[in-house]
Amino acid sequence: MYSPLMLYYRLLVILAVVSLIKLVAMFVKERRGHTWAEERDLDWYRRRHGVEGEIRCHRCSGRSVAIREMSRTVKEILNSHVCATCGAELYRSKTPKKPLAEG
Ligand SMILES: [Zn+2]
Repeated sequence: MYSPLMLYYRLLVILAVVSLIKLVAMFVKERRGHTWAEERDLDWYRRRHGVEGEIRCHRCSGRSVAIREMSRTVKEILNSHVCATCGAELYRSKTPKKPLAEG
């Protein structure tokens, strides 16, 4: 019933579908990373909590901020800036990934 060519063809179709799904997933992740960081960036934090000058925690007034790497997209690293004292998330940012050739 199945010729070798038919099996090969089916394999090719499966491969194409899997690649397409991966590509779409990559685009979705990239877009989500974009909005993830921008909806709660530093400007947003300053506006929302009325912070001017040095950044302070809105919960405990702590001044030390720790940066946590939350996720990575193709081009950027997504950071969460949290209060080092109480752990509250203050704001988010993106860092461009450094090219491998550098450094
Ligand atoms: Zn705090």
